[in-house]
Amino acid sequence: MIKFLDLQKINLQYQNEIESKLIEVFRSGWYLMGNELAHFEKNLSRYIGSTTAIGVANGLDALRLILRAYIEMGVMSTGDEVIVPSNTYIASILAISDNGLVPVLVEPDTNTYNVDISKIEEKITSKTKGILVVHLYGRIIFSEKLKALAAQYNLKVIEDNAQAIGAEWNGTKSGNLGDAAGFSFYPGKNLGALGDAGAVTTNDDELAKTIRALANYGSNQKYVNIYQGLNSRLDEMQAAVLDIKLKYIDTENETRRHIAKRFINQISNPKIILPEYPEDEKEHVWHLFVIRTENREALQAYLVENGVQTLIHYPIPPHKQQAYKEWNTLSFPISEKIHEEVLSLPLSPVMKEEEVSKIIELLNKF
Ligand SMILES: *Cc1c(COP(=O)(O)O)cnc(C)c1O
Repeated sequence: MIKFLDLQKINLQYQNEIESKLIEVFRSGWYLMGNELAHFEKNLSRYIGSTTAIGVANGLDALRLILRAYIEMGVMSTGDEVIVPSNTYIASILAISDNGLVPVLVEPDTNTYNVDISKIEEKITSKTKGILVVHLYGRIIFSEKLKALAAQYNLKVIEDNAQAIGAEWNGTKSGNLGDAAGFSFYPGKNLGALGDAGAVTTNDDELAKTIRALANYGSNQKYVNIYQGLNSRLDEMQAAVLDIKLKYIDTENETRRHIAKRFINQISNPKIILPEYPEDEKEHVWHLFVIRTENREALQAYLVENGVQTLIHYPIPPHKQQAYKEWNTLSFPISEKIHEEVLSLPLSPVMKEEEVSKIIELLNKF
């Protein structure tokens, strides 16, 4: 069976380095807010090009904390609107509604699966305070037009960079394009921890300071609480593992590009719609390789019978979820069509060329 993602194999690439580091952290007796976190934060900010990186407990917290900090800073307040793509993973939207802000959904572009920037302006009202862009499947969404819109309407641009670490737009890394970015290091992401982990990057010192306090019970100084904060820490074990794996992220993303290129050049079945390979290949880090077909269930069953595991990202659009009952009658036809047709093929830095060939051959025979 070709697994959708072989996490064991991915992490065993660095077995000696990770195991000796974990033993070192174990023996040190220091497990939270120590040197490992400080090193990782420094190396992550250096990699992204931002002045600050803040380790937090997970990707959802990273996004929640950015918005919560804007509320504490008086930049946003309850009932304000934040624009977000209608076909994202639910976490992007939860981060907004959890803060008492209103998510305003905008349809994606079917060539990139990212938000259609030309449809943003019509959704801007006097209550709009931010645009949460999601670099979905690992592909950057950004443009001069988006920058100009944000400047014209005084909107914060927040990046959900959970899926696109390492991608670049005109020489700037994702995570350094807007005002702040949230990262997830969930084990299956391109940079994955051995459990939950996340981070925020920003060049805004006041925002960074507010987030650090919010993530630490609302405190900058022990036992003095300025906000009703939360506890969202990146622990030393995870920080140490991430610091090791960060050194290899560019190499791993290059392997992902190589596999994506093979799929795109060699899959030629007219029943299958392939993703676009961007003109500037640095804009994509291929977190997921997502195809579309009208016969998705049949194709998925055929691939399983032939030893290939696939997944669907995502089967139900956010506006059709029970969690957002009030949106269930809304219509987002492009998102709905995407959710009915997408299928993610296995793509990872540890796949063998023969495995890639087998998948290509099976798809061409379907
Ligand atoms: C994974 C993911 C998140 C959430 O990250 P967690 O670490 O699981 O909380 C947010 N947004 C997107 C687009 C994701 O893929």
